[in-house]
Amino acid sequence: MLQHVFGYPEFRGSQADIINSVCAGQDALVIMPTGGGKSLCYQIPALARAGVGVVISPLIALMEDQVNALKELGVRAGYLNSTLDANTAWQTENALREGEIDLIYIAPERLIQPRTLALLQQSPIALFAIDEAHCVAQWGHDFRSDYLKLNILHEAFPQVPRIALTATADERTRAEIISRLSLENAQQFIAGFDRPNIQYRINQKNKPKLQLLDFLQSEHKDSAGVVYCLSRKKVEETAEWLCTQGFHALPYHAGLPAATRASNQTRFLREESVIIVATIAFGMGIDKPDVRFVVHLDMPKSIEAYYQETGRGGRDGEPATALLLYGLEDIVKLRQMMASSDGNDNFKRNEQQRLNAMLGLCEITSCRRQVLLRYFGDTLVNPCGNCDNCLTPADTWNATEAVRMALSCVYRSGQRFGASHMIDILRGSENEKVRQFGHQALSTYGIGKHLTINDWRSIFRQLVALGYLDVDPDGYGSLRLTEPCREILRGEKSIELRRDKAPEKARATRKVMADIGDEDLPLWNALRKCRKDLADEHGVPPYVIFHDATLKELLSKKPLTDVELISISGIGDRKLEAYGEAFLDVIREFEYRGEM
Ligand code: ADP
Ligand code: ZN
Repeated sequence: MLQHVFGYPEFRGSQADIINSVCAGQDALVIMPTGGGKSLCYQIPALARAGVGVVISPLIALMEDQVNALKELGVRAGYLNSTLDANTAWQTENALREGEIDLIYIAPERLIQPRTLALLQQSPIALFAIDEAHCVAQWGHDFRSDYLKLNILHEAFPQVPRIALTATADERTRAEIISRLSLENAQQFIAGFDRPNIQYRINQKNKPKLQLLDFLQSEHKDSAGVVYCLSRKKVEETAEWLCTQGFHALPYHAGLPAATRASNQTRFLREESVIIVATIAFGMGIDKPDVRFVVHLDMPKSIEAYYQETGRGGRDGEPATALLLYGLEDIVKLRQMMASSDGNDNFKRNEQQRLNAMLGLCEITSCRRQVLLRYFGDTLVNPCGNCDNCLTPADTWNATEAVRMALSCVYRSGQRFGASHMIDILRGSENEKVRQFGHQALSTYGIGKHLTINDWRSIFRQLVALGYLDVDPDGYGSLRLTEPCREILRGEKSIELRRDKAPEKARATRKVMADIGDEDLPLWNALRKCRKDLADEHGVPPYVIFHDATLKELLSKKPLTDVELISISGIGDRKLEAYGEAFLDVIREFEYRGEM
């Protein structure tokens, strides 16, 4: 089935073990990172076992595409959710009763209706797959109350194996899934957390629009991606601006009319090279496998959020880039937001700790992936080689003297001002505010002229991130000294800081992932066009025809016959039959043209 239906030569990770276990009628709990290949773990058993495989998923926006993708593989699939009109739903139910469906996707609220349960009682069932199983966790951010009722499956269908799947791996969620879904007897399959194909990069923010433009133009001219911003206003501005720069960018945030949101999301899925500029409202439910980059123009408030958002890149296993631009202003903004939220003190303390962990990730000079994985309780023994710190090791410098100047400036001006005013004093600026407060008279006035504004910004940012300075959540970003400052001010401790990379240097990480060479571009574009035409003809997104990985293999192997074609990963029997000729024609044309 793996070869003939799905076109893959071998299983990944523990797929084979999971499939064997479910085929044998065992319950399973599967924790695997995004893009790890969870779907096959229930799709193959559903086909192999008698009866229909029932997949429960909260992501109703995706069901149609998922089902269409299966139909393209020749699998008899269907779905039931609130988006279907009564007639289509009736037809699907009928097909189910007649045993004409091998895989059916059902929204949880639909499944627990007595009517649906009665329908299922009439048909033999191969298995229940509970996708996004972390939605059952009450304290998680994706909690769905309908998921709590899924326990009924265990009671009503004790014979049918259940497989619960999620990418959220922390222990608490896992325990909650097991107890709420009565999966005590399930075999557990827990894969590592790593997403090796995602390249993590974190740079200081310095003219972010231009940084974004530079990044897109030099690395992702033609790719689909997501750009996250904190505010709706910034989302709209950024999307508009990208359009004026020749990119196909669309905004997405909760304040847009539902129809606009839906249409922008559909265009992102269906068309190629669309950039979505979004607040975090854009996320769950985006299963597009070929997202090539995720850029954060504002810092996420925790490592959890960062990992989840960047995790939307590269689900197809192909290289993807995660770029975060951050600066002191992000810390100030997030601290203010937290202070003014209505959670209790305990909640706020928690949030603060999460933010500090995120800041730690931003400032470290060693491998980012090691820190990320350690945060989730996973270990990576060696540096990854695919993050900015591994690719262009960060410089540090002994900043003790400058730090003393900075701290003493904060102290002498009364701990009531933000970083830019401190920098003005240190650099001896004669502006209005400096004069108004008589700060020319301070002993720290003008003592820091040897460093640039950017150097000082970097110093203040790191002092906050490292906990030597505190940002007052008063709304002005005033800086205050903290306890650990004492040692430095007293001259008992020296301090090393990271030297922020100049943009040119940060750029040196580019091209590490070998992409399409110039000589291959014409064929690549022709293959993409062929894929897009077929996708439009079939009314599906291009990746449903072939993933990028398959297209790249076509490009490198240039098959000329069916036999060569079927050996390519992602081409099974049905796709060979449906699309083989079209792609062979494209390749032949190029090959033979080359010979003439
Ligand atoms: P998840 O649900 O875990 O995020 P998917 O099931 O969507 O991941 O799989 C991610 C990608 O990997 C898909 O494009 C899928 O076709 C591909 N894939 C899954 N299993 C294999 C395999 N054994 N060989 C090659 N590609 C695979
Ligand atoms: Zn690394």
